[in-house]
Amino acid sequence: MIIGSDFLVTGQYGVRLVRQHTKHMLLTFILDFTDTADYWMFPYESPSLTHDLEEAWETVKPLYELLHAYVRRRLRDFYGPEKINRRAPLPAHVLGNMWGQSWSHIFDISQPYPGRDFLDVGPEMIRQGYSPVDIFRLAEDFFVSMNFSALPLDFWSGSLLQEPADRVVLCQPSAWDFCNREDFRIKMCTRINMKDLITAHHELAHIHYFIQYRNLPKVFRDGANPAFHEAIGEAIGLSVGTPRHLQALGLVQTSVDDSAVNINYLYMMALDKVAFLPFTYLMDKWRYDVFKGDIYKDQYNCHWWRLSELYTGIKPPVLRSEMDFDPGSKYHIAANIPYMRFFVSTLLQFQLYRALCRAAGQYDSLNINQPLHKCDIYRSKEAGLVLRRLMEKGSSLPWNEVLFQAIGESRLDGNAMREYFRPLEDWLRNENLRTQEYVGWVYDGDYCKQSIETAGLQVYGGFYNGAYAALQSYTVLIISIWASISLYILKR
Ligand SMILES: [Zn+2]
Repeated sequence: MIIGSDFLVTGQYGVRLVRQHTKHMLLTFILDFTDTADYWMFPYESPSLTHDLEEAWETVKPLYELLHAYVRRRLRDFYGPEKINRRAPLPAHVLGNMWGQSWSHIFDISQPYPGRDFLDVGPEMIRQGYSPVDIFRLAEDFFVSMNFSALPLDFWSGSLLQEPADRVVLCQPSAWDFCNREDFRIKMCTRINMKDLITAHHELAHIHYFIQYRNLPKVFRDGANPAFHEAIGEAIGLSVGTPRHLQALGLVQTSVDDSAVNINYLYMMALDKVAFLPFTYLMDKWRYDVFKGDIYKDQYNCHWWRLSELYTGIKPPVLRSEMDFDPGSKYHIAANIPYMRFFVSTLLQFQLYRALCRAAGQYDSLNINQPLHKCDIYRSKEAGLVLRRLMEKGSSLPWNEVLFQAIGESRLDGNAMREYFRPLEDWLRNENLRTQEYVGWVYDGDYCKQSIETAGLQVYGGFYNGAYAALQSYTVLIISIWASISLYILKR
């Protein structure tokens, strides 16, 4: 649960990553873009993208701050007030994830109602003798029930759905479009548990997207913007995880539906999705600043922590300096993969889910008996129609037109996410009031210094540990993509 500070990239590896980063910036000038940030923003087709993104973040920020304040209180109760300050940013190393990008692993020590667990159907799936193929048959049925066609036979013969015993494979779930209009495959080492049940549906959403746009010219066979593929898969996942759906599958006999269980369920979702949002924003905010030349090499690391404090309210576990290169600990930065699509898809998935639920007649914002988080679009032909309308356009139109034609919305909007978490947001507000929490955070000392010699070697709540002398081994993973194949990998 608690992860140490060994993610901090230092010494020669940090220097190499900084050099690579600078070199990439030069390449961009060969093309007709002002800088790499300009190039990365291009697929979003908006002259006001920076403003749109900031506005979407501002919409969700009040929810994030309530969650942040509640989590800080629970961590303070757990570790003691001398370690967790009641008004300061959260220290990165106690959030259960190296980058603080998901807080799911601290659910056990922070859940609102201990013992009032929401559903985990994994044991029931094992009891019923599910195989990986059964899981994918179930996922296939989900789409068929919404009037999608059954999967082509080749899908079943060509896919790898469980880990082979005779060789090593890369197990990261991925969906592949072989771009010949008939060959679509999934590679996933499926295990019999609830997480993989949802992931199987997510991956099949990619396959159905491939199938729906397969007859377009190759250049348009892609998501409407870089976030659409993931957003659709995640929206499907929101439906699959509901008690209503698991009951329809016969994996739950009777489910308890009271407010404690619902709050625990939404809280678990928030630790993953709400906590993730500002991190996704920070990742490319930082790189846009680098690419635009707004910050220089000798400010890379401290700028990272400045933005981290500003957007996520998370501070480093120990004092950092420009001898370190912490952004490089994140795979997508080392491998130079844009990240803003995760920000957009995290918001967009709730917009899509809300629209699909409305089409299915299962969500009405004015009816408290129909909250968004309980909606299941299974067997809804109407929701299927909306989804196909969205998918079949591929990237042949500007994404906001595709979105508008399918769901009647044309902008990125954080309100759908707020609506989904509304019961939790109300609960967090009351709870923070009850314990008189400070909502927000204030800077409480040095997090990063230009040079460690001038840093005084101490930071509030922790101590400088000579990290720059301890070289980390760091492997940059390279995924080579076969030029004619497009694939979608669930890796964040
Ligand atoms: Zn995916």
